[in-house]
Amino acid sequence: MNDLGLNTLRIGMSLHQALKLADDAFTLYDERSASIGTGTKDGALHLQCVKGCSYCCHLEVGVSALEVIAIKQFLERPENRSNLERVKTRVRHQRKAVGDLRDEGRKNARIMCPLLSDEGACGVYGARPIACRSYASFDRAACERDWQQPEAEQLVPYSETLRDMAKHLAPQIQGAQSKLGIVRGAYELIRALHVAFSTPDFERRCMAGEDVLAKAALR
Ligand code: SF4
Repeated sequence: MNDLGLNTLRIGMSLHQALKLADDAFTLYDERSASIGTGTKDGALHLQCVKGCSYCCHLEVGVSALEVIAIKQFLERPENRSNLERVKTRVRHQRKAVGDLRDEGRKNARIMCPLLSDEGACGVYGARPIACRSYASFDRAACERDWQQPEAEQLVPYSETLRDMAKHLAPQIQGAQSKLGIVRGAYELIRALHVAFSTPDFERRCMAGEDVLAKAALR
C-alpha cells in the first residue's frame, strides 16, 4: 500500500530518470487519494478539497530537495516558462514576508504560497509537494475557521490515510536523494524556492552533495 515505487531508484540514474520516478510516485499517491472514504481508516468520509480552495496554501510547507528540484524544473518547462518570472517575483516577495517567522508566528501571519495562482489554484499542481497532497480535509468550514483564526488552533480533520502514506513516502524520497548524491534534509518551501531560484547551477550543486538548501532548513 505504501510502496510508491521510489525504492527502485538506483545509484547512477540521471536526474531526469529520478524525477520521472518521483512523478510516477506522486501520481500514484493522488490515485490512491481518490479512493479515500471507502476501505480506509477514514471510513465513509469524503474529501472536501476542490480547485480554488486554498486555505491550507497559507500554512508552512516542508519539502525535500528533490521536491524543490521537481517544482523548479516544472516551472522551467517551455509550456510554463511564460509564468516563470512572475513566480520568481512572488517568491522574492513572500521570502521577505516570511522573514525569520517560524511555527506559530508563521501560521498566524497567513503568508500565501507564491505558487498559488490568481484563481486560487496551485500553479505547480502536478509537481506539488507531498505535504500539500496530505493536507486533504474532510471539513472545508474547519479549514476556513483555521485560516480566519490561526491562533485558535482549530481542529481540522485531515485524512489519516493520506497522512500515513505521506509519512511512509518521506523516507523513500530521502533515500532516493541519497542515491542521487543529494544530502538528506527537510526545508521550508518558500525559503527553499528562494534559494533554488537565486543559486546558479542549483540542481548540479545539489547532486554534487552540497547542502545548498541549508539556509532553508526546517527547525
Ligand atoms: S505548492 Fe501548491 S498546493 Fe502547496 S501550498 Fe503552494 S500553491 Fe498550495
